[in-house]
Amino acid sequence: MSFVTRFAPSPTGPLHLGHAYSALLAHDMARAAGGQFLLRFEDTDLDRCKPEYVQQTLDDLKWLGIRWDAEPLFQSEHLSVYNQYVERLTSFGLTYPCGCSRKDIAAAMAAPQEGVAQAVYPQTCKARSMEDRSDTDALRLHMDKACAALRGTELSFREVGPIKSGLHAIDLERLISDVGDIVIGRKDIQTAAYFLASAVDDIRQNITHVVRGIDLFDFTPVQVLLLHLLGHEPPLYHHHALIRDENGKRLAKRDDARAIAVFRAEGASPTNIRSMVGL
Ligand code: GLU
Repeated sequence: MSFVTRFAPSPTGPLHLGHAYSALLAHDMARAAGGQFLLRFEDTDLDRCKPEYVQQTLDDLKWLGIRWDAEPLFQSEHLSVYNQYVERLTSFGLTYPCGCSRKDIAAAMAAPQEGVAQAVYPQTCKARSMEDRSDTDALRLHMDKACAALRGTELSFREVGPIKSGLHAIDLERLISDVGDIVIGRKDIQTAAYFLASAVDDIRQNITHVVRGIDLFDFTPVQVLLLHLLGHEPPLYHHHALIRDENGKRLAKRDDARAIAVFRAEGASPTNIRSMVGL
């Protein structure tokens, strides 16, 4: 079986130990399988993503000995593609316009972070129809209708990582109650929603194995749902443990003390970094 994996950072800060672990693990797996390792910058949050973080990430990855097998994909260069997928879901009658606060919409579109619960949308705009969509509206997935469209389908994904290995059936009722009507796009500002863009790029890049942190495990069902609605089979998923600090807290990008650049400046070698993350 072919093996294609990817590292998909959001360049909102310097690369830190947790990212290095994820990238090295995926890279090692690809090399061991004689497969491919791809790089994708999820740079759709235009306020927080910075070119200098892209450059720093590229430098740090190279320094770590990581090589990618194709030109990196920058999501910000493909925004019209994600819009086409949104329009497809709209043509199936599965979206509605939402004019709720910009701040809430922006938070709903970003990649989720561990410990930050994504609020279930209170459905304020749910009764609105696509006909009265304005240019400043975001579009939400009508989760009840989306789930109704797939009722009777065996929806599942296979986890091949060590933590939750096995076949995971997707509970549609829980998607409705616990995830709700996610934002999948908006027109006025050029951006894309994490859930949709990341899932469709795994298909566009022919990813066979998604290697990423366990913090994203709980969001896999909604990505698999989106893929099914769009007519695609999901890849295999390998969710790995997170690198934590001595207090058990996940290392975040803003935790600059753990930035690879800092370890480099202090004279650490790539081998030192590997052993720090247990590889
Ligand atoms: N861009 C996401 C992040 O940096 C990762 C998405 C993924 O690997 O699926 O948290």
